[in-house]
Amino acid sequence: MTVTSEVHDLVQSVPTGLFIDGQWVDAASGKRCDVVNPSTEEIIATIADGGPEDADRALDVAARTQHTWARTAPRARSEILRRAYDLMMQRQDELATIITTEMGKPFAEARGEVAYAAEFFRWFSEEAVRIGGDATVSGDGRTRIIVTKAPVGPCVLVTPWNFPLAMGTRKIGPAIAAGCTMVFKPAHLTPLSSFALVEILQEAGLPSGVLNVVCSSDPGSVVEPWLRSGKARKVSFTGSTAVGVRLLEQASEHVMRSSMELGGNAPFIVFDDADLDAAVEGAMVAKLRNMGEACTAANRFFVHRGVMDEFARRLAERMGALTVGDGMTDGTDVGPLIEPKAVEKVASLVTDAVDRGARVVCGGAPLEGDGFFYAPTVLADVEPTSDLMSQEIFGPVAALIPFEDEDQVVQLANDTDWGLVGYAFTRDIDRAFRLQESIEVGMLGINTGLVSNPAAPFGGVKESGLGREGGRTGIEEFLETRYLAMPRSIGG
Ligand code: NAP
Ligand code: MG
Repeated sequence: MTVTSEVHDLVQSVPTGLFIDGQWVDAASGKRCDVVNPSTEEIIATIADGGPEDADRALDVAARTQHTWARTAPRARSEILRRAYDLMMQRQDELATIITTEMGKPFAEARGEVAYAAEFFRWFSEEAVRIGGDATVSGDGRTRIIVTKAPVGPCVLVTPWNFPLAMGTRKIGPAIAAGCTMVFKPAHLTPLSSFALVEILQEAGLPSGVLNVVCSSDPGSVVEPWLRSGKARKVSFTGSTAVGVRLLEQASEHVMRSSMELGGNAPFIVFDDADLDAAVEGAMVAKLRNMGEACTAANRFFVHRGVMDEFARRLAERMGALTVGDGMTDGTDVGPLIEPKAVEKVASLVTDAVDRGARVVCGGAPLEGDGFFYAPTVLADVEPTSDLMSQEIFGPVAALIPFEDEDQVVQLANDTDWGLVGYAFTRDIDRAFRLQESIEVGMLGINTGLVSNPAAPFGGVKESGLGREGGRTGIEEFLETRYLAMPRSIGG
């Protein structure tokens, strides 16, 4: 789908209101805000700009719907998710076009995001009917202990712009499976894919009031009332650590269950025994997926001094040859960053590293012309005190730092407040298992640059967050454990 008018018509067909109690409605204030294509800087839609009044209305509906929704048959909830999965895959190209147009990632990557996003619905459709519980007897034999699971209650879901579809399904899937109602605030820079998802869920049979969506250019004006209301029982947030900390403070007022998928500062370690072909391939994925705008993006490349020159040369050769451009154009490898501020941030991090002695092996500057583009960049000999070592770069910049031995690199890798993901390339199997114990992260990729998988528990340690999404644990985040005690009389 590269014909511009077709893309235009498709994007125009996406609803642009707030979605409350099964209806698309305007914001109470009547305000609207623009959605911009970061490749072309064109306004592609104007959407309803919600505020506190809309937030209250949406949460009232979710709270009111909770009781009946919790009592639906698990199989019914499962089948809604399964139908939504099928519809998403049938409309993979359309959804991918919406993602690329509002967010910028190349079309092929956007198709990948749609498949990844849909898989959460399929996974949780399978989990919905296997929630289970436990029955046991106390140690002294006198008490029956019956453990059951119940939906936690109305949930507040807040997602970022970088994976606009998948970050939503990773929360909405388990909430539906568990029997929770929702108020959902997608990022205002990339709301259209979420709105298209709502239409799919409606078509799949999701009852009115279960999922309510309010987007806003002033996110605090919607989310804070939700957290302070006492009507919502859980918050599930994906975004920056700074915002996550604020939401945790607000959620503490009513002791809400909290899941936080926050920022990362991933180390990517290349040992001198690594298969360098695999390491370069892994680096391309871990750095350039999503233009580097991913919480899982390799942020610090630690490369053994013995293989530094060759790794740097080969990575720069690959990164320097990439085609940067509009994600809807055939042949584009790397799309734009999300907004001008993001380009400025990446540029200032590169300038700081170069001022401290880093060598630019390729790239090193924003691109001229329309769109928010930054050239794929490799920096060698980066000083460990550089700002990009302690901040998420969120752009296509690989910062290479030499190291001497395993102990030193483990210490360097752990020298951060974050702990989402790490990557290491080595052929030594003992070292691989040692690293799983010594690197402080929720997820470690050995000889791979990609760890995200709906069947695996995604999440971080330290300031990267609380809880896990996906895998067997994903649904538990939306369930409460209840236990029943009963005296046990043993008959003769
Ligand atoms: P962000 O600024 O924290 O925004 C995330 C979400 O929170 C958006 O919906 C945003 O709304 C909303 N928000 C912003 N300020 C808020 C406030 N004061 N009160 C309530 N909500 C507020 O993060 P971002 O810049 O969009 O996304 C990038 C960050 O997300 C990075 O740190 C990245 O590492 C992290 N991330 C983590 C994961 C993970 O699974 N661990 C996955 C993806 C991204 P608006 O966007 O509409 O302003
Ligand atoms: Mg932001």
